[in-house]
Amino acid sequence: MHRVCLLLVVLAVTFATTVASAQSKPPKREIVQVAGDLYRFHNNFHVSVFLVTPDGVIATDPINADAAAWLENAIRERFGKEIRYVIYSHDHRDHIAGGEVWADTATVIAHENARRAIIGEQRPTAVPQVTFSDRLTVELGGKRVEVIYPGRSHSDNLVVLRFPDERALFAVDFISVKRVAYKDLPDSYWPDWLDTLRVVEGLDFDILVPGHGPNGTLADVVEHRAYLQSVHDQVLAALREGLSLEETQKRIDLSAYDQLGMFEQWAPLNVEGMYRRLALQRRGN
Ligand SMILES: [Zn+2]
Repeated sequence: MHRVCLLLVVLAVTFATTVASAQSKPPKREIVQVAGDLYRFHNNFHVSVFLVTPDGVIATDPINADAAAWLENAIRERFGKEIRYVIYSHDHRDHIAGGEVWADTATVIAHENARRAIIGEQRPTAVPQVTFSDRLTVELGGKRVEVIYPGRSHSDNLVVLRFPDERALFAVDFISVKRVAYKDLPDSYWPDWLDTLRVVEGLDFDILVPGHGPNGTLADVVEHRAYLQSVHDQVLAALREGLSLEETQKRIDLSAYDQLGMFEQWAPLNVEGMYRRLALQRRGN
């Protein structure tokens, strides 16, 4: 009995230590040069980019208030510059929380639909002061960033940023590099997402910087579109045959893409999310 009690105490202490270390584990943060004056900022599994110009920095997603404060300091120390513009990729909290940290020196820019969602959902960030519908060019210190709305995809307000001097494109959450899409495709529009990827395929760039994971190229955009097209078309065909979600899961064949990251975990969820959305967007005979 005594030994059992002791074991329980040891287990409890181990558990408490594990919980405490998980809570206090410092986030992994890093700055990595992409090309020229463009840098990636990593905060655990989230990525944003920033462009350094002689007159200050054009930043993108702040990720959260602590990450934003860390990056602002790091930029001051390393480049001696202030953040002058912030461009949000889209309205989702996990990418754009903490914008208020930079708003004292920066003008905040986002798509007009993002502003609406940020206010409506009460995102913990700075409300964009400048919005646009199709396209916007930001110029600072002789450098240029093109902000392009390619259409609805993951949210109705996701924009891509093209850095012409660096030949790079920053595209968050609707293009995964060598990985399937995220879980059950939250906040997604079909078939718009597929059309939007084709628009991105028409843009001029060499380096693709996604919001998660390693950099890619145009070939990764094409592969991701082909994967999503396959999920879309097979699920739609199953719905038209009157198959249940369970039957669809059994029938669907995505083996051509089983080398993609998170395939086992997320591909079935991709199918489930697609099934639910397409079911709402059609009416059978
Ligand atoms: Zn998102």
